[in-house]
Amino acid sequence: MSEIIQIINARLVEGNSLVSRSLWIDSLAGIFVPSPDPALVKVKVVSTIDLQGRILSPGFIDLQINGAYGFDFSEDASKDAAGVSYKNRYSETRQKLIKTGTTSFLPTMTSQHAERYHQNLPFLGPSKSRNPFEGSESLGAHCEGPFFAHNRMGVHLPEAIQSSGPSSEPELVIRTYGASNLFNTTPPNSQEQESEPGKIPSHVRMITMAPERPGALSTIQQLSNKGIIMSIGHMAANYTQAAAGIKAGAKMMTHLYNQMNPHHHREPGPLGILGGTMDINPENETKVILEENDSLHHAHHDPRPTRPYFGIIADGHHVHPASIRLAHLTHPEGLVLVTDALMLLGGEDGTVDWLTRRLTKKGIKVMLEGTDIIAGSCVTIPQCINNFRKWTGASIPAVLQAVTSRPASILGMENVKGSLRDGADADFVVLSEEGVLGQSVSELVVDQVWKFGVKVFDRDLE
Ligand SMILES: [Zn+2]
Repeated sequence: MSEIIQIINARLVEGNSLVSRSLWIDSLAGIFVPSPDPALVKVKVVSTIDLQGRILSPGFIDLQINGAYGFDFSEDASKDAAGVSYKNRYSETRQKLIKTGTTSFLPTMTSQHAERYHQNLPFLGPSKSRNPFEGSESLGAHCEGPFFAHNRMGVHLPEAIQSSGPSSEPELVIRTYGASNLFNTTPPNSQEQESEPGKIPSHVRMITMAPERPGALSTIQQLSNKGIIMSIGHMAANYTQAAAGIKAGAKMMTHLYNQMNPHHHREPGPLGILGGTMDINPENETKVILEENDSLHHAHHDPRPTRPYFGIIADGHHVHPASIRLAHLTHPEGLVLVTDALMLLGGEDGTVDWLTRRLTKKGIKVMLEGTDIIAGSCVTIPQCINNFRKWTGASIPAVLQAVTSRPASILGMENVKGSLRDGADADFVVLSEEGVLGQSVSELVVDQVWKFGVKVFDRDLE
């Protein structure tokens, strides 16, 4: 027996539009369902909720978040034998995170030694539970590092990156994270006929690595073939090397602009691949013409065959608003808003210990103590959405796609997450538009958050 909730008077995010229509949820199964047969409505509908014209968006998905509310996903999980303290603090963080509208996320580990990955990754894999009260749902871990360019480390632990050596051969990469954290080796059960053992990602869903290190392209190819989402970043790559990473199977660029070579008109760097990955050789005019034609020919069949998705941190510090606008105008279908938030999100200003270093937080800005090196952010997805909307003039549906359907597509989960379609998980956010004095663009405010068809946050009740 299902329990159907009908939502009326909502403006739903559907593609590029806000559409006024009813929505139906099976609150026991936790999914969106088609409008039920009118003859059955009386017996099945348990409640009708009138949203009075407010916006209903799929729940937000954050592909890059290092920690929040005093907890760092990379901290030592082995402080007690069973990791009880780590598990409890992780659980508390997920409970708080969901109140921001982030119903799913990739818990992100910064660059660590192999032992830390082996200890922590088993805790950070996909949540699997469909209990709506467990907070934001992990869709698998994001390992950001340690296979980075040594001159593009940012605030990542230098000793972890340096100890990874100069190469990124598949065997070394797999050993560092642990094969069991990367590949699920349990045989498929009868419901998963199409999956083969070893092709189902285990705890790790995404890896960021520099594509120019020896062995990196082969690793990108092997791991992406096994279902792990590869993203290039913290790299010294030029245009050609970045393009090679995408051609090898990487789908994304991690925090565009930050920790990569800047654009130059004669050496476009990784930013150049936002326009595509054509092999243009300026020394050879014939080749240019042939390959341009070839690329246009492919473009006819697939408008963006090799243009990567890219993360953007829209906190106002990592990237100038004009650069964000430029990236958005260049490749709007590629842009994903990520927070890159640290454990200091939700905390007081001041200086604190962080792994082996010290960080200073001032508002939403976090720097390595005594330097001007940006260490990460303290923003939430709603703050990123509002900044992005203000700086680019993008429509509300376009902005919301950058934190819902687009990250879901990157993860290959477009039928399950980031969508209001029938059968998708009923993870959603109810948003109000509030005017701001002296600002022509309204702010979107999270009024309610629903997880698996159950309301888990209501601003009016806080
Ligand atoms: Zn980073």
